[in-house]
Amino acid sequence: MNARVYSIKDPIARAEAGRVILSGGLVAFATETVYGLGGDATNETAVAKIFAYKARPLYNPLISHVHDVRSAFAIGQATSAALAMADVFWPGPLTLVMKLMDGFPLACLTSANMSTVAIRIPGDPTTRALLSEIGRPVAAPSANRSGRLSPTTADHVVAEDFDGLKIILDGGCCAIGVESTVLDVSGAIPRLLRPGAITQEQIEAVVGPIELTNNNVGLLSPGMLASHYAPIASLRLNATELWDGEVGLDFAGQLGLAVDLSALGDLLEAASNLFAYLHALDSPGIKTIAVAPIPRTGVGIAINDRLQRAAA
Ligand code: AMP
Ligand code: MG
Repeated sequence: MNARVYSIKDPIARAEAGRVILSGGLVAFATETVYGLGGDATNETAVAKIFAYKARPLYNPLISHVHDVRSAFAIGQATSAALAMADVFWPGPLTLVMKLMDGFPLACLTSANMSTVAIRIPGDPTTRALLSEIGRPVAAPSANRSGRLSPTTADHVVAEDFDGLKIILDGGCCAIGVESTVLDVSGAIPRLLRPGAITQEQIEAVVGPIELTNNNVGLLSPGMLASHYAPIASLRLNATELWDGEVGLDFAGQLGLAVDLSALGDLLEAASNLFAYLHALDSPGIKTIAVAPIPRTGVGIAINDRLQRAAA
């Protein structure tokens, strides 16, 4: 059965979605990063459904979404770095990994049985209105089957055709378009677990030098799998020309193609178009998508990170 799509701006639809989540069901909803597949993060069965819908490995923990800072620090233990980061970047595309507050009834599956929890306050006010109505943390990974392209429109979620998903809250195209920056602030020195729209430079301006993560720290952030975010077609990165039989994805006119992540070379625009353009190019019969080089600065780091995992 197809899910019904409602505007996330519609308070009646949000109320209905909230009831579904509070009774243990799942709802897909827009955020400013990508569309999430949300369920009650304190309900073991609801969280199990998220893993089942996505066919996501159980060792890959989920981000819990809340509407305000007070709720966030009722779940995660605040360190000085956590407070400083929250102050500057929340609400927004930043996930903080903290030690789980003693006694908070988070479902074990949400955190993959770890003693830490990943928390985000989404930037979009209508997403926060939904979360505020629910009043519990909502575990919400991207609303796609594990390992595939992330959804940045309601249509992308519809196309996943999740069996049993009844409601999709449509907020249009995601303004940011890549998943949140994930920063572990549970230890003495903050560690970047996933690059995103909030960059290393922006973080270090707030908390000083941080540690970076290479791809070998599977245990620190189980979700940083080498292969992820993949289209069906294969990807050829840093292409300086199109080869026979390829379709191309350009940046700043380098390949002279019509499909350009940002003709003006704006990395923020490129990030917001990334998954939508990959979805559009990833059609039956297309074997390879050649992608022009993207500068490794600012959000370009996150774009290259996603492209590398998609190509792996
Ligand atoms: P996703 O839900 O697909 O956006 O992925 C969430 C990301 O946050 C993954 O990379 C997870 O591994 C990471 N994550 C979530 N919870 C934790 C945690 N407690 N410790 C470390 N990383 C986490
Ligand atoms: Mg995902």
